[in-house]
This record gives sequence, structure tokens and C-alpha cells, in this order.
Amino acid sequence: ILRISGLRKQFSGVEVLKGIDLEVHVGETVAILGSSGSGKSTLLRCVNCLEVASGGSIWVGDELMGYRQESGDTVRRLTESQIAVQRRNVGMVFQNFNLFPHWTVLQNIADGPRSILKLSKADAIERSMALLTRVGLADRATAYPRQLSGGQQQRVAIARALALEPGLLLFDEPTSALDPENVSEVTDVMAALAAGGATMLVVTHELGFARAAADRVVFMDGGVILEQGSPAEVFDHSQQPRTREFLRKSL
Ligand code: ATP
Ligand code: MG
Repeated sequence: ILRISGLRKQFSGVEVLKGIDLEVHVGETVAILGSSGSGKSTLLRCVNCLEVASGGSIWVGDELMGYRQESGDTVRRLTESQIAVQRRNVGMVFQNFNLFPHWTVLQNIADGPRSILKLSKADAIERSMALLTRVGLADRATAYPRQLSGGQQQRVAIARALALEPGLLLFDEPTSALDPENVSEVTDVMAALAAGGATMLVVTHELGFARAAADRVVFMDGGVILEQGSPAEVFDHSQQPRTREFLRKSL
């Protein structure tokens, strides 16, 4: 469903992504590892059009993200509202939850189905409650984000991302702002999604999650993909000294 080709991104002349080629197929979960500054967040933000790429292309399904292909080789930049339509198919979960603090849990989840998908209030609430049940928080629907633990807030954020039924889910270090005891409740939800056939691209430092739940592991270094393969290939039989050094330091 996701096809990234020759993706480049520079910030004021400094090249941060130096030609990324990556495909994620329907139902696949791909984990992205790499040290700080290697370009992982920038890659996800380009997929979601939160950053404008400097070169290359990103296809999600049959949509060229950020652009419309016209006759021949001509492409035209889409407007922000057209990009917002493309983005419905790409859910994103951030490190810091990004919930609306003055809305209840239920309002946070139901807003997208209501305002974007134009579901009736009853249908939006029904969908939101089903998602809350799925992430184990049906009893917290009327709570406000600040009344929840970090792990609970992140599970709400996952439910909110799922509410638009996107074909692709992006996660940017979803557990790195959590206390250690709250990490597994979030990775358990993500592993269940992965096992249930969701298509996910996950930047994570949770090597246990990557090994258990990812179909493929990608190691990024200095704006390129240095190595990728099955979890066993990358974790146990890495071909690259940089990858082995990263893994050793991450244990
Ligand atoms: P981390 O593990 O710390 O989250 P990362 O792999 O996600 O790192 P990025 O956030 O993608 O790395 O950043 C890659 C590089 O791009 C870094 O050198 C960063 O300083 C730079 N960078 C990212 N965003 C911007 C920006 N908006 N303006 C200028 N430079 C940026
Ligand atoms: Mg990052």
C-alpha cells in the first residue's frame, strides 16, 4: 500500500533524507530503528505530508501524496484541504499523544468520524465506544486526558487514529514518553493490531516489540536505509557494523 521511491529531504541545505526506497505491503508491520537524528521522524512526516519532500515520490494506495498526477509526467501540488483528504487514509500516532485536553476521551475519538466522515452522532459514538473497548478503555470514555496515565492516553490516541479506518498507520516512538511500567499496555495494543492485519510503519526503540510484532525491520543511519530484513536477519545476523553497534547500545 505504501511505496516510497528516492525520497529526499533537506532542511536549509542540509540533506536529512538521502534517497529512501521503501515499500510496505497490505497487512505488513514494518519497524524502523536508528539512532537519534538518522531521519526517522522526518521520513514519517513526509509520508503524512507534514513535511514537503525535496525529491522522490510517496504513493499510498493509488494516491501520490501531496500531488495529483496530470497528463504525462506533469504533477501538480495539491492544496492543504486536498492533502487533508489524502491524509484520512494515513493515521498517525505521536510520541506525545496530542489529544485535545479540554475534550473527553470520547470526544477526542468521535470528532474525526463526526466532522470528517460526517457520521451521525449515534454512529460516531458507537464506533468510538467499540474502539475504546478494543484498546481496553471503555470505562474511561467520559474522562479527560489529564485524568489518564500516559499509557492510557496513548491508547486513546491509537483509538483516535483508528477511527477514520485508515489503510496505513504511522507511529513515531509511541512509547518513548511513557514510564517503563506503561510501555507494555501500548505495545500490546499495537501487537494486536499488527496480528489483526493492520498495515503499520512504526518508529520504535522497543526492540522486543519489533522482534515479536514486525514482519520486517529497517535500520536507518544518516538519512539512508542501511539494512533491512526479517527481525531474525536484522537482530541476529546483521550484515552491517553500524547496525550491530546500535543494537548493542540499545540493549
Ligand atoms: P530521534 O530519534 O531523535 O527522534 P530522528 O531519527 O527522528 O531522531 P529526525 O527528527 O528525522 O531524526 O531529524 C533528522 C535530522 O533533521 C536531525 O539532524 C534534525 O536536527 C534535522 N531536522 C529535523 N526537523 C528539522 C526542521 N524542521 N528544521 C531543521 N532541521 C530539522
Ligand atoms: Mg524522531
